[in-house]
Amino acid sequence: SRTAPHARAPAATTTAPTLDTNSPLKEIERIKAARELRRKQAELIREARAGKDETDMMVEEYEAKIHQFRHAWMQWVESWKGRRTAQALAEWDAPIQVCVRKRPISNKEAGKRGFDIITTTTAVHPHACAFLHEPKLSLDRSRSIVFDEYAGNDLIFQTTLQPAIPKLKEGKNVSLFCYGATGSGKTHTVFGPEGGRGSATTAADIGLYHYACSQVFGVAAEMGADVFVSFLEIYSGKVVDLLNNRQPINLLEQNGSFLFQGLRESHAASVQHCLQIMAVGTATRTTQATDSNSTSSRSHAIFRLEMRVPNTSATSLLTLIDLAGSERGVDNPSASAAVRREGAAINKSLLALKECIRALHVNSNYVPFRSNKLTCVLRDCFRAGTCIMVLNVAPTNLTVEQTMSCLHYANRIKEYSHATGGGN
Ligand code: ADP
Ligand code: MG
Repeated sequence: SRTAPHARAPAATTTAPTLDTNSPLKEIERIKAARELRRKQAELIREARAGKDETDMMVEEYEAKIHQFRHAWMQWVESWKGRRTAQALAEWDAPIQVCVRKRPISNKEAGKRGFDIITTTTAVHPHACAFLHEPKLSLDRSRSIVFDEYAGNDLIFQTTLQPAIPKLKEGKNVSLFCYGATGSGKTHTVFGPEGGRGSATTAADIGLYHYACSQVFGVAAEMGADVFVSFLEIYSGKVVDLLNNRQPINLLEQNGSFLFQGLRESHAASVQHCLQIMAVGTATRTTQATDSNSTSSRSHAIFRLEMRVPNTSATSLLTLIDLAGSERGVDNPSASAAVRREGAAINKSLLALKECIRALHVNSNYVPFRSNKLTCVLRDCFRAGTCIMVLNVAPTNLTVEQTMSCLHYANRIKEYSHATGGGN
């Protein structure tokens, strides 16, 4: 039964409200009421979901994720000793006081399959937080995964590239990009410590290219294919061959694809042979110091393994790309003109990459490959295959702006694939 708001108002004025938040009885009552509310709502939700469809399953998955988050977060908050709950705002001597108030979910919302996406802490200080979990249901069920700092390259490989490797057998192309600011771990991911020059002794350190090699040779044996390795770099708008002393490479367009004129494609007989060939390339790439001004951080490195079945036109291509640092060097007023120009060129290439991915996802007839060297070089990566984007982020406050900008870039790319419900 409902009571009109105006009918309740006089009662409120005759009884002075008490603010006895410490009363244990009141607290027990409040908990009881909350439990009862939850029970009722669970019932409503159950009724609404009597005939479960796919959307219901997605909703449940989201709810489970949010609960998981809440559980972990609450444990953390509980462990924070000495927190003050519900300390009066007015005790703080500040001219503007702000509070956020979340109301309980209504029966009407619960009946419409609404679910709670706001997580709060009641602590006023210093951990006053409200998290809003924005559910993004993807039509193509594409997923994103977050790896924490304890995940090694072995886990990254097993979760991202490895499941895509069998596609090579079907003549499809597989590519993996590492995107992020300088120092965020792109090179570590693709090539291992010190860009493949260091001694990667543990499974967690071995670069993805090494893992990829091991698997590709297995696939090539099954297919009766030969494996050709090439390794190139785009620096300052020029494409150079890292397996041939940085010799410049010309891109020639022929029948809709690009030929790399002058590129050395080495036939690799085994995994070990492939790694030996690559040792030359990684040494060439990392001769400069690995500080943020080094060439390697301002260049895109592209590692390609192509499988060709002799006497047929069957080929498939695996490409790993260590992109140039995504930080906006252009914005740095203390940077030299040359560095700013370079920064602008890198931004342009990363934007071109994003545009191509967007065009591919909307199945546009016009994919602007030609707008940039990077996208020309990568043209084959996008044709009929799988494209994996790894977004590398550094953990600290020192790079918060770069991290935000990277996450925005990744979100955009995710949205493209969601918007069209397809993609490759
Ligand atoms: P980027 O290529 O994005 O500029 P790097 O791969 O060179 O960044 O990483 C910067 C530094 O952080 C390097 O010293 C690297 O070894 C270290 N590093 C990056 N990722 C990891 C990781 N997952 N585990 C341990 N060290 C890492
Ligand atoms: Mg690097």
